[in-house]
Amino acid sequence: MAARDTSGKGTGTATQPQGDATAGAQPGEGTSGGSSGPVIEIDRVTKRFGDVAAVDDVTFTIARGEFFSLLGPSGCGKTTTLRMIAGFEAPTAGTLRLEGVDVSRTPPYKRNVNTVFQHYALFPHMSVWDNVAFGPRSQKLGKAEVARRVGELIEVVRLTDLAKRRPAQLSGGQQQRVALARALVNYPSALLLDEPLGALDLKLRQLMQFELKRIQREVGITFVYVTHDQDEALTMSDRIAVMSDGCVEQIGKPVDIYDHPASVFVAGFIGQANLFPSRVTGADGDDVVLDGLDTTLRSAPGATRVETGSDATLMIRPERLLVSVDRPAGPGTNAVEATVADLTFQGALVRLSLTAADQAPIVAHVGHDVDLPLLRPGDRVWVSWPPSASLVLPAADIPTTEDLEDLLDEG
Ligand code: ADP
Ligand code: MG
Repeated sequence: MAARDTSGKGTGTATQPQGDATAGAQPGEGTSGGSSGPVIEIDRVTKRFGDVAAVDDVTFTIARGEFFSLLGPSGCGKTTTLRMIAGFEAPTAGTLRLEGVDVSRTPPYKRNVNTVFQHYALFPHMSVWDNVAFGPRSQKLGKAEVARRVGELIEVVRLTDLAKRRPAQLSGGQQQRVALARALVNYPSALLLDEPLGALDLKLRQLMQFELKRIQREVGITFVYVTHDQDEALTMSDRIAVMSDGCVEQIGKPVDIYDHPASVFVAGFIGQANLFPSRVTGADGDDVVLDGLDTTLRSAPGATRVETGSDATLMIRPERLLVSVDRPAGPGTNAVEATVADLTFQGALVRLSLTAADQAPIVAHVGHDVDLPLLRPGDRVWVSWPPSASLVLPAADIPTTEDLEDLLDEG
């Protein structure tokens, strides 16, 4: 199945490596791909374990210097995809190229990629410096070159002052940064990270998200990042591949995936979405006309055309809904009456849970700038939105809140 690439082209925002990070990559070790072309090409790759297609005919490319995330619920095939890039698993079918070279059958140690696991093992008896220097020293690099590389990477991960400490004298986050420096010090074509922040508590995890992104920018090395956490992926990535059931559902920049999800699955998995069952009845200019919420609605089309007469799912983000006491005027604006079910004050916004006439639940996020009287459960309000604020998606079972919580909780 071909994924929809909503980023326009497959390159993302590649940052140039600083210094000679790529130029100096593993001299003589076959990084001959040069600086043009994608670093990683996954071409119709399938991986079967017995009857299970863990990865099912997946195709995408990752550009040089990109922070690329594989995002999806537990069991969707993220780790298997990463392990194939690393060489720990061989594809059942399809081709995997690194720097333009087919490595589908190349063992891990002959691939110029490095993996950071959640449970990284530092050498406990060695200092931070020696842990990071281990790789370059085993490559028999000259003393000065080892010192230059280790010094640079320790500086990047901000551990210069702690270089003489041993792992046991460091915090969890600091140990993680040692592991990163160690994985980057040989300037791999790509660094592969499988849920590396999963073991950290929330505060540290958020801090490390920014740190990881900064480090990636500074070294300019391609990162392939596996996570089931949508916030993590949205915060850090240049592009995200959203996976479900072994397939890539959509690839794009975070903002494109959020604004233009290609499917109900993606809309529900990334951010919050109102999803209404509807039926396409025609077109009016650029707008699609639909029956839904017991009325006639207009909407921008989605990435996939839904034929007139077919069922569809209408998607609107909670912050795109306007809530008012009076019926909004203006031709072409969608408006439905709804009853307030619940209000939650969330600091920057009020989360309004509403019930439409056809009993559909509606969630609206209302900012402080909106002039509304104090609302109480049971109050009647109007919910409105311009056609451009909604998208028509192919009909699919609409996940319940419980379904989504299950998806998001699994790791
Ligand atoms: P994720 O990392 O997204 O949670 P995985 O790639 O680990 O997903 O797994 C995808 C699917 O492949 C799951 O159904 C999993 O049970 C199955 N799977 C993964 N590795 C193996 C294996 N070594 N043997 C059998 N099945 C596996
Ligand atoms: Mg996994």
